[in-house]
Amino acid sequence: MHSVFSDGDHTPEELVGMAAANGVNLIALTDHDDIEGLGRMRAAAHKAGIFFVTGVEISTHWAGCGIHIVGLAVDENNRELNDFLNGVQKEREERAHKSSGKLEECGFQGAFEGAQKYVTNPKLISRTHFANWMYDQKYVNNWQVAFDKYLGKGQRAYVGLESATIPFAVELIVKAGGIPVLAHPGRYRLDDLRLQELMNLFRDSGGRTIEVTTGSHAPADVPKFTEIARRQHFEVSTGSDFHRLGIRCQIGRQGELARDLVPVWTHFGLS
Ligand code: AMP
Ligand code: MN
Repeated sequence: MHSVFSDGDHTPEELVGMAAANGVNLIALTDHDDIEGLGRMRAAAHKAGIFFVTGVEISTHWAGCGIHIVGLAVDENNRELNDFLNGVQKEREERAHKSSGKLEECGFQGAFEGAQKYVTNPKLISRTHFANWMYDQKYVNNWQVAFDKYLGKGQRAYVGLESATIPFAVELIVKAGGIPVLAHPGRYRLDDLRLQELMNLFRDSGGRTIEVTTGSHAPADVPKFTEIARRQHFEVSTGSDFHRLGIRCQIGRQGELARDLVPVWTHFGLS
């Protein structure tokens, strides 16, 4: 799940409340490039009697594509991880200025200041905040159009994040005691050959777990990645990728993992 510490709409406490209401008994907070919400989430989960796992979703770049690597059960005090995240947060700020310049060339004045109004963690600005601003200003008649025409990969105001490669992020997570997970592999719209290259690179880097059921997958992605996990012996993970109500799926409603696969929580020492 994502909270107000990156580009989600809800506080860690609200997320735990919604998870509890949905009967979820194992949760992770995986904010984009930020771990400051983990302490609050842990405390709230403890009170609610829900098993909590730390997390972070690291933005990496590969062959012109933004690939997300989730780190589960990371040590949030790990120095290298914290230093890296501070660096990405600075890069995000510079990138937001670049994006904003491009949006202004498209005729949208005051983009940086506009997006800032939607930022809930002053250290973490995301494309989502630009999309929210553009939608509320009625520059686009549908939120998704902000990505499809301007902010999405290859569009006019797109600027990628370049701090981390896949091998770097996987190693960083492992060094911080965590488990690297290839997030929503169906969302990158790769053809079979490129997808296989991505899986090979992830495995060669030390990755063993892929996300299979997620709010970010289309229905057809689930059997596809279930089969890939079976054939290529990946362990599997699941998550709602919850950011806000009304899009993707509600917390805990992303669908079950196939019972014959090894779920990531075998590493969490659940009792
Ligand atoms: P950023 O971390 O700033 O690159 O922005 C990532 C956020 O943008 C994530 O929450 C994604 O869900 C969202 N996002 C990225 N690409 C798209 C897209 N094509 N359509 C809708 N949302 C997207
Ligand atoms: Mn993601």
